[in-house]
Amino acid sequence: MFVAIAISSRPLHEIKSNRMKKFLDENFLLSNATAEKLYHEYAKDMPIIDYHNHLPPNEVAEDKMFDNITRVWLNGDHYKWRAMRTNGVPEEYITGNRTDWEKFHAWATTVPYTLRNPLYHWTHLELQRYFGINTILNGDTAKEIYEECTEKLQSSEYSVRSLLERMKVKLICTTDDPVDNLQYHQQLEKDSWSVKVLPAFRPDKAMNVDDANTFNNYLTGLEKAADVSISTYNDYLVALKKRHTYFAANNCSVSDHGLEEIYAEDYTTTEVAGIFAKIRSGGTLSLEENRKFKSAMLVNFAEWDCEKGFVQQYHLGALRNNNSRMMRQLGADTGWDSIGDFKQAKALAKFLDRLDRDNKLAQTIIYNLNPADNELFATMIGNFNDGTAVGKVQWGSSWWFLDQKDGMTRQINALSNMGLLSRFIGMLTDSRSFLSFPRHEYFRRLLCNLFGEEIENGELPNDIPWIGQVVQDICYNNAKNYFNWQYIDDTSVSKTTVKA
Ligand SMILES: [Zn+2]
Repeated sequence: MFVAIAISSRPLHEIKSNRMKKFLDENFLLSNATAEKLYHEYAKDMPIIDYHNHLPPNEVAEDKMFDNITRVWLNGDHYKWRAMRTNGVPEEYITGNRTDWEKFHAWATTVPYTLRNPLYHWTHLELQRYFGINTILNGDTAKEIYEECTEKLQSSEYSVRSLLERMKVKLICTTDDPVDNLQYHQQLEKDSWSVKVLPAFRPDKAMNVDDANTFNNYLTGLEKAADVSISTYNDYLVALKKRHTYFAANNCSVSDHGLEEIYAEDYTTTEVAGIFAKIRSGGTLSLEENRKFKSAMLVNFAEWDCEKGFVQQYHLGALRNNNSRMMRQLGADTGWDSIGDFKQAKALAKFLDRLDRDNKLAQTIIYNLNPADNELFATMIGNFNDGTAVGKVQWGSSWWFLDQKDGMTRQINALSNMGLLSRFIGMLTDSRSFLSFPRHEYFRRLLCNLFGEEIENGELPNDIPWIGQVVQDICYNNAKNYFNWQYIDDTSVSKTTVKA
């Protein structure tokens, strides 16, 4: 059969131009009208609960101001540092002694080479949302952007607290060591600031028995913080539990662990007491002893979390500090980590099962760093969701290397296929920067786009009020209910702007 095809007389490049969307406009990542409606009418104005990040509480307490854009944007941002190194920028312009302007210029000249890396999106989204700058950052525009941002940063509207308020942040959870005295959280609690800043109990150092010296130095600090002299394993547990209780008394209701894998070896308390005595006296543990000790500590922490009604989080799968030369030079968290290939499933199931069997399984969030483990994690949570709470065991949002368009989309899709996306507690920044909060917007746009596409394809019903509600739940309500943070002051935020 002959089919007539209408051919436009306009040249091809012009047709393309007409269809081309503007870079990072208001409908960025939204590919159809339904996605736009879901984002603009349901998701966009929802407040933010950032239930895991690495923001320094002292800077929030003192409401820090930044001298220039380099200080707030490049310092400590090892995502950007890795890109700069890959682009051939010498270390002196990254973590070295070059001036703040020289460092910014080095970043600006790297940005054009970050196309399709999430940094390209983050960079321009952050310039737009915080500074109202729509110019593309590169070597030519670096000077004007540096000057404009630096000038704006002098205003109180750019203090740390104002930056958080601007993004409708209602609550953040920082990451704190058991020996931390939480003085800044206490100071913040006394202030009548509307944003809650809560601590999270992260005892990674209390489990790290890889080096006796490091461990015993840590215990010196713990003895002081807990006011407990530590000779035996029992003393050790008393001291740590005292700190756990202290954290709970300071509004902490969340723990977090950064681990390569869950340790779930069989052990007896007598065995672990012997292992503790060995390392306490400076001995080196065998691999088996090391793993047994970590297994026991994980169970202790988890039982305390359950007792106090904490939510426990496990960030699993990072292979850290892989460049020993640069580790010696710059220390940890400076950009020398990657995705590990640890075997996660069996130990994770054994650990969660032990707690569940003893009725000591707290609400739990597990996060994978290796995307090959997506379906593994998506199905693992279903083993321990038993109807006692909505979404009791959660598969946490994409983090670190997976915190990007493809990583988030794949996490959302695997969770949809194997769990209940509608009960997901959503996005968090996991960031060290006060300018990272547009990542929530990024996630929300992707989420709305996935729903919008399937509504337009006829794969989901055109029930905008219901799907809009689900979107709002994933953006905010689910987290608020899951952590039971009902005291958050969100009355000023309109949660739905859609007309009845
Ligand atoms: Zn983290």
